[in-house]
Amino acid sequence: MSALPLLEVEGIYSGYGETQVLRDLSLSVGEGEIVSLVGRNGAGKTTTLRTIMGILTPTSGRVTYRDEDISTLEATETAKKGLAFVPEERQIFPELTVRENLELAAHGGAPDVDSLSVGEALEMFENLQARATNAGSSLSGGEQQMLAIARALVGGADLILLDEPTEGLAPYIVQDVMDIINELNDRGITVLLVEQNVHVCLELADRNYVINQGEVVYEGTSEELRADEEILDKYLGVT
Ligand code: ATP
Repeated sequence: MSALPLLEVEGIYSGYGETQVLRDLSLSVGEGEIVSLVGRNGAGKTTTLRTIMGILTPTSGRVTYRDEDISTLEATETAKKGLAFVPEERQIFPELTVRENLELAAHGGAPDVDSLSVGEALEMFENLQARATNAGSSLSGGEQQMLAIARALVGGADLILLDEPTEGLAPYIVQDVMDIINELNDRGITVLLVEQNVHVCLELADRNYVINQGEVVYEGTSEELRADEEILDKYLGVT
């Protein structure tokens, strides 16, 4: 990895009560990178993001962000450090307008991090600009995904944990979401992307981790993963 490490996950074990999901999972994300965590349904991808964010606490192992141990911090505290989790179900406020959704996110505020203003976010996301006064509930799935990402930016994120951003979206919208992920990365935002769709990862990510049954079973650049038919076939069901 050429970039400076921003996030380091070292040998974490995590899960839900008696159910252990992650086993000795390690990964790192360099500043400015797009890194993917790709694997089948139930492999432990969402659990990994929840543990990094502080929604779950690892039972052992360590999560370090900008050289600070954040393993035991709660999500409200990691958010103040510049982490944002955009969950699969997107979590926007359906009864509030697009602009109100963004204004509310602005109050979260990570003090050390340059955040986008609501106006800048609306400029960046043209679809949202056009619907600024519409209710969140009136947005399409792709627009809701954009709004969830825009909220993270307005909230001052510099590392975005994206959980299956293309799930359930029509193919032409998938491309729009991918363009947005590239654009925010161009603006200096680091991205850890969780996906079942390996094609999205191969197109976007600098490096990829393949997860299977709570363990990382492969790490490689998109070029390397694209060429590794055995891994693609065995863990991701594509050849
Ligand atoms: P998906 O694409 O289905 O979201 P995933 O790779 O993100 O898959 P996780 O959501 O991390 O997988 O789930 C990993 C395992 O943890 C699964 O076996 C799942 O049933 C279990 N699990 C997830 N959430 C809970 C929970 N709240 N309580 C107990 N077990 C859970």
